Formats: sequence, C-alpha cells, structure tokens
Amino acid sequence: MSKSFVIGFPRIGEQRELKKVLEEFWAKKCSFEEVLGVAAELKKRHWEYQRDAGVEFISSNDFSLYDNMLDTSIMLGAIPKRFETLKNEELYFSMARGNSSYVAMEMTKWFNTNYHYIVPELSLEDNYSLNASKIIAEYNEAKKLGIKTKINIIGPITYLGLSKRVDGGDIYELWSKIVPIYEKLIETISAVDNEIVVQIDEPIFVKGLDTKVLSIIKPTYDRLCKVSTNIKIAVVTYFEHSNEATKVLVHTPIWAIGLDFLYGDKNLNSLEIIASSGKKLIAGVVDGRNIWRCDILKTLQLLENISKTVKKENILISSSCSLLHVPFSKRYEQKMSSEIKEWLSYGLEKLDEISLVSKLFFDKDGLSEAEKDELRKNAQANESRKNSNLIHDKAVQQRVKNHTKLQRDGDAAARIDLQRELLGYKDLVTTTIGSFPQTPELRVARSDFKSALISKESYEAEMKKYIDECVAFQEECGLEVLVHGEPERNDMVEYFGEQLKGYGFSQNGWVQSYGSRCVKPPFIYGDISRPRPMTVEWITYAQSRTNLVMKGMLTGPVTILNWSFVRDDMSRGEVSKQIAVALSDEIDDLQKAGIKIIQVDEAAFKEGYPLREEKIKIYEEWSVRDFKIAVSSAKEETQIHTHMCYSEFNDIIDTIEEMDADVISIETARSGNELLKIFKSAGYKNEVGPGVYDIHSPRVPSAKEIVEQIEHLLEVLPKEQLWINPDCGLKTRKWDEVKPSLKNMVEAVSIVREKLNA
Ligand code: GLN
Ligand code: ZN
Repeated sequence: MSKSFVIGFPRIGEQRELKKVLEEFWAKKCSFEEVLGVAAELKKRHWEYQRDAGVEFISSNDFSLYDNMLDTSIMLGAIPKRFETLKNEELYFSMARGNSSYVAMEMTKWFNTNYHYIVPELSLEDNYSLNASKIIAEYNEAKKLGIKTKINIIGPITYLGLSKRVDGGDIYELWSKIVPIYEKLIETISAVDNEIVVQIDEPIFVKGLDTKVLSIIKPTYDRLCKVSTNIKIAVVTYFEHSNEATKVLVHTPIWAIGLDFLYGDKNLNSLEIIASSGKKLIAGVVDGRNIWRCDILKTLQLLENISKTVKKENILISSSCSLLHVPFSKRYEQKMSSEIKEWLSYGLEKLDEISLVSKLFFDKDGLSEAEKDELRKNAQANESRKNSNLIHDKAVQQRVKNHTKLQRDGDAAARIDLQRELLGYKDLVTTTIGSFPQTPELRVARSDFKSALISKESYEAEMKKYIDECVAFQEECGLEVLVHGEPERNDMVEYFGEQLKGYGFSQNGWVQSYGSRCVKPPFIYGDISRPRPMTVEWITYAQSRTNLVMKGMLTGPVTILNWSFVRDDMSRGEVSKQIAVALSDEIDDLQKAGIKIIQVDEAAFKEGYPLREEKIKIYEEWSVRDFKIAVSSAKEETQIHTHMCYSEFNDIIDTIEEMDADVISIETARSGNELLKIFKSAGYKNEVGPGVYDIHSPRVPSAKEIVEQIEHLLEVLPKEQLWINPDCGLKTRKWDEVKPSLKNMVEAVSIVREKLNA
C-alpha cells in the first residue's frame, strides 16, 4: 500500500505552454477556446504524470489560468465593484491584469516564496455568492480520465487573512459572510461523488496567529465538517510550523492535518496531540520548494521518528508544500554537468521520491529491482554531494572563516562630510537607480553572444555603444551622478551568479512568479568565490566617458541569496557570508579602479524575512552582518549606496540604520512623504533618496508634479539629507518615457533649488 500525497502540482507546463497560449490570447492572436484547450491538455498530462508515478492523492483545482487566490475570489463572488459589468474571461483577466479602462487588483507575495497572488478586495457591504463551476468541472474532468482527485481549495481563514478590506476595519469581521459560502461549496461538492477528500490550504496558520484568529479556527472547521458526511476534510499548512493552530484543529472533526516537517521542524511538538486525536497526518517530508534531490534514507529516519508517536497507518507521505515552487522536470537540462544534475530533483522527480519514500516506509520488502536500484542511486548522489570538490572548496571556507573585517572604517557622519567635500555634489543631488531601458537589440546581442553567434568584440562594441548613448543622454539631461545603464545584465542576480564559482544555471528551470510570468532562479550548489572581477570593466569604461561621477552597481549578498535556490547542506547565513566576502573584493577592485560611488542593491532584503517572529532576530543579524562585510572594503571616501524597492520601512528602520550605508534610495513616489516619516522619527542621519516618481507606470510625470513631490519630501527631511531619483531601475520602461521623465525630474530640482535660494 502506498499512501502518497502531493499538495499541488506546477501548472505552467513543462515547456511553459500555458504562458505561451495566455500571452497569445492577450495579444489577440488566438481564441479563448484555444487557451482552454491547452489548459485541458496540461491538466490531463499533469494528472497522468502523478498517477503514473504512483501518487495516491492527486489534486484537482490546483490548476489556474492565473492564480488560485483569484480563482477563490471568483468562487466566492468577491468581485470588486469596478468590474461589475464584466463577465467570464474578460472579468477574470481584467481583475488580474487591468487594462486601459480597469485598474488591476493588487498583487503581492505568497508568504516567503517568489509566487505572487492577487489580493482580494472585500467590503462589509458586498454580498457574496457561490460559483463552484470551475471546481466541479475540474473534478469531473479528471474523473472522466479515470483519476479520482482530491479537491484543493484555499481555506477561509487564509483567504481572509490575505485580503484587504476596502471599507476599512477588521478583515475577520467578514468571516460570517464568507464561511456560509464555503459551507455551500462543501455541500455542492458532496453532491458530486460518494466520497471526496477536500484539501483546505491554511498556510496562514504558520504565522503565529493572534488569539482572535485562533478563536475562529474551531467554529470554522466544526461548521465545514458538519455539512456532509461524505466529505473528508484535510487541512494543510506549509512553510513553517503551525503548532498553535494544530492544538485547535485536533478538536474539530477534520479528517487529516498536513504539516511541513522540513521548514517547520517544531511541528514535531504536535505529534502527541495528533496521535491522541486519531487523525491522519499528512507528513510533508519531501522538499516542495527547493531543488535538491531528497536524501531518501534521512527522510525515512524522520518518518520512523514520527511513527514512534503517530501510528504508521495514520501517516501519509507528502511534499512539504505545493510543487508549484519548483521547476517541472530536470530531464530538459541538457547542458548541465552530469555530476550536478544528479544532485537535483524538480517536480516530476519529486513525485518519484514521494512514491519511493512511501513504498519504503510502508512496504520495505515489496521493493522492485528498479526501486532498489533507485535507492542505491539516491544514496550515491547524496554521498557525492557530501564529498565533491565542486561543492567543497577549502580555500573559500578558510578565507570566510578568517575574514575579520566586519565593517567600514570611520563614523558615518564624518565619512559623509568627507565624501561631500571630495565629490562636491549639491543638495538635492540627482541620480537614477541603475538600469536604463532594455531594448530588443540589447536582448538579441546578449543572447547571440551567449550562443556564440557573435564575437566577444562585437558584443562588447554593442554594449559600449549603449553605455555611450546612456552617458551622453544623462549629461545632456543634466543628471549629476551617472550610471552605466546595466545593458550587460539580463537580471540583477543571474548576472552575478554567472560569474561566481559555486553557482549553477538551468536551461528550463522555470517557476511561475505570477500569471504568465516565470523566473528561472539560478542555484547555489557550492562554496562561493569570485574568480575574477565582475563589473569593473563596464563601470570603468563608463567612467572614462564622462567627467561626472559614475556610480558602480552591484547586487547585495542578501538579494543574491533570496532570489536563488540555495544549497541545503549549509545554513543560509553561511552561504550569504561567502557571497559577501566575494563582493567585498569586487568593491575593493572598483575603488582601486577609481570608482568613487558604489551602489549595493538589496531589493529582496525584506522578502527574506522569516514567517515566525522568533526567527527574525537571527535573520537580521546575519543579513546586516553580510551587507556590512560586503561593503567593509570601501574606504571612507568611497560612498556606499544601497537601494531597496518596496515601501513599509517602519518595522525594519533600525536594521536599515545598522547597515550603515551612506545613502539609501527607496520607493516612495506612490505614498507622498508618508514613508519617509519613519526616517525622521527614527533619527536616521545618513542620506536618503526617496523616489520622486513611479517607474511602474508608463506615465510621464510633469516637472510641476515632481516639484510638489520634492516639496513634500522637504517637509520631512532637510535638503542636505535628500537625493532626488526615480523609484527604481528603468529597465522595464521605454526610452521615450524615460527621457522626458528624467528631464522633468532635473527641471523640478532646479526649480526647487532656485526657490530655496531665493
Ligand atoms: N540597480 C537595479 C536596476 O536599476 C535595481 C533593481 C531593483 O531594485 N529591482 O535595475
Ligand atoms: Zn528597486
């Protein structure tokens, strides 16, 4: 008997088929029927893959044309008023993406993953009503293929917890409007078949809930379980432990509880109460969000340990979370070294791992020859990871261990005085965040160079031409601190990963980020070092083209880490320290080459925050430590900038202060001067560049608007402390949006300066 369970499966398709057909549809190049056709084909294939791998609990309704939270809003009839007149796919995609007549709904990150969901907009005066058609149709679709699925839905408490209430007030006040719809849903499902397992995802339970939220868990699940006797409810959580909620759930009539034992090892503390409740335990033991091959024997040990408390027959073997967060299959990786490939496991491979673990756990003696062989291979691969010198580099380990320079010399105030004197910039000095528009020509040149279709010389000539134009434009525009424009970078992490030893890349390792957008995160498999300078040539070339100051541009250690798959045989903090030491060499090389300002971007600093309060301190300790190590080589006269592109600094202002950057640029344009206030109230003394216009929109801001924005900023911080820049990098914008916007920004600054001097 195999009791294997998969929480959810990737839906974008092994060749990103869903992405492709959606984008064609949006470009009006194909019909919606064609989209549905591709979707049906993908669902079928994905169910069959799982069935063939021997998975017993396979999901329906884990598929989505855009996002499951959005699907849940549709299911509940939670349609914001502005979309009222729309229907079907037009409604759905307008909610997701907006268009010239409709503002899209907001999108935000799903817990601490790189997946983004559409944030529901709820209000007490709205009326909700059930639309179960997608859920029922998908169940029947699988059934017709002979596959009996469990039905996945996002739980009411998580749904509410991730929503925003547009009329203000507590979101959980809507509980009494939402739960009845879920009851109706269960009733509707129960009419479809004899016995159905409904998997209700409640990842919000891992966030350390307050007593009020905890108090609604029991009434919710008592009510949902009461609806029908032929529905078995499994409540699953992931990404952390959910001990507080588990304590309550065991006293409800649910059938099973799903816990993540990899990212929430404290879940082990709940085993006793689960055992005495007699409920099934869906044991998340195969990593659903990282790409390393499972260590089967180690996993088995964990399960044996669990089964000392919970009866074996009550255990199901599961992925730790939905496989949505890993790429489809490593079989498309044809360029990777075969040694490294052996260490990896993507979605399809994880299905086999789940099956094998479950076979071993329940029926050790029934192993087939092929399975025994697989087990041997697994042990070998894990042994090789422990010893391979592709991974373990003694010299790097020694160097990182002995690294003693933990911060820059000198005190910030004195440093900034010195820098101002040497660099001679005015108050309200103007700059940009790094990238300029990425043109189709640039993309072609980079990819042609990668596939050796053009020579190094012609590639470099193309990049230099871009840099020349970029510098010329900035000078003509009157910007004061220049950038080279980042034409050589595909992506701010991949560019560095490609040059660091210990980093790997996939060919087809796509993971859905939102809607049709996928990312292909690089992965850190070994000790990290920098064989040669990574940016010095480009930056010094750019500097040679101007007499103004050229700002060097790097990505910080924490962001590099947070946007990669990270090795699991070492703590994240240790990996980040290795990156930091490598970056400190780069900074030293840049300053030796005459670069006077260096920006170290930490765009993903905040996303790395742990879900559990008690882990935050440790994260902050090593992330700040490593930013400081990275910049520790900068001399006092070298000005260090950092950039963080999100709002909400309130809870991390002390941490930002500790990072000790001379200048920080942040995203503020959409919120006036609200976000800046925390810098004032915290007594932040270093310089700040609050974005004065929103780069996410194609709109060109007028000089007048920017003057007003700067004046708002001046209400909070003095002119001596302010830099003037856009919100973020300009790579996603077009030149004909960027040029007038920056000209207006520069004009606005001169207007404000004149007023101040008058
Ligand atoms: N320097 C990067 C750029 O301008 C920063 C990007 C970011 O913050 N996401 O593109
Ligand atoms: Zn940014």
